[in-house]
Amino acid sequence: MVELRTLTERDILTLRGPRNPVDPSRPYLWFTERERTADGRIEKVAAIFLTNKECPFRCVYCDLWKNTTKDRVPPGAVAGQVEWALAQLPGTLHVKLYNSGNFFDDQAISRSDRSRLCEMLSDFRTVIVECHPKLVDRRCVEFAGGLAAALQVGMGLETVDPQVLPRLNKRMTLDDFSRAAEFMLAHGIAVRAFIMLRTPYQGEDEGVEWAQRSIDFAFSIGVECCSVVPARAGNGVMERLQEQGHFHPPSLRSMEKVLDYGVGLRRGRVFMDLWDLERSYTCGVCGPARGERLAAINLSQTVPPRISCACGS
Ligand code: SF4
Ligand SMILES: [Zn+2]
Repeated sequence: MVELRTLTERDILTLRGPRNPVDPSRPYLWFTERERTADGRIEKVAAIFLTNKECPFRCVYCDLWKNTTKDRVPPGAVAGQVEWALAQLPGTLHVKLYNSGNFFDDQAISRSDRSRLCEMLSDFRTVIVECHPKLVDRRCVEFAGGLAAALQVGMGLETVDPQVLPRLNKRMTLDDFSRAAEFMLAHGIAVRAFIMLRTPYQGEDEGVEWAQRSIDFAFSIGVECCSVVPARAGNGVMERLQEQGHFHPPSLRSMEKVLDYGVGLRRGRVFMDLWDLERSYTCGVCGPARGERLAAINLSQTVPPRISCACGS
């Protein structure tokens, strides 16, 4: 078995399973969720997960390629997906357009689609997209300029741990992240950071420590919102890293520590991604209640007392 302390792009690709079948005329997922806004209201947000060409990066932990296409989708397809999804969803003032990659990558979303989106989204107050820091450039400013809504761009910071960030194959330094954030802030574009909790090569306590330091770093450079994502297996490489003892998903306790810390700073919004949270429950008595507490913190941005249980987990 290949020892994965030194992962190559080839290892990452070799260990992948098949893609899911996707339809370029439809997003692969769409729903509304409630989120606390930057100005302190709890409002519905439409989340649309677009089908488009796979991201050119190959981050170790990424499983987003599963719902992408190998080739570019036809011009107009992405705008058409958004139009279709918005017709299915109840009206909202905020929309997330997550495209499993980089919104400003012309290979994923053409310039003409982005222009059409600006027209289509004229009734929204906030538009949130995602992009790798190295692909944040004039295209981002052009898009923001064409929107009536305020633009927020989410970028993966992942971790400020200097031992780990270079090993994630993200091809990004903290300077790259800071530069992209500074560029956007100078153009009035808000920044959201995605932070990974317990990356590969981190122990449980280290995972908590580095996620907290990553939140500190993000706020120190003007990020408005931190979204903490518990690392998970599911892309082939992560399972292999787990078998070899280089990765383990974080515990519910670690999620509590990081969310309580981040929200307690009161420097901006901090959310914990609760996708598949049930998998981290180790006790049938306190697990669901602790999950509800995390969901309540996401919405209230206040920290209630922790839930204690005889299980001690
Ligand atoms: S930049 Fe984002 S979408 Fe691309 S491989 Fe990395 S995590 Fe996945
Ligand atoms: Zn318990």
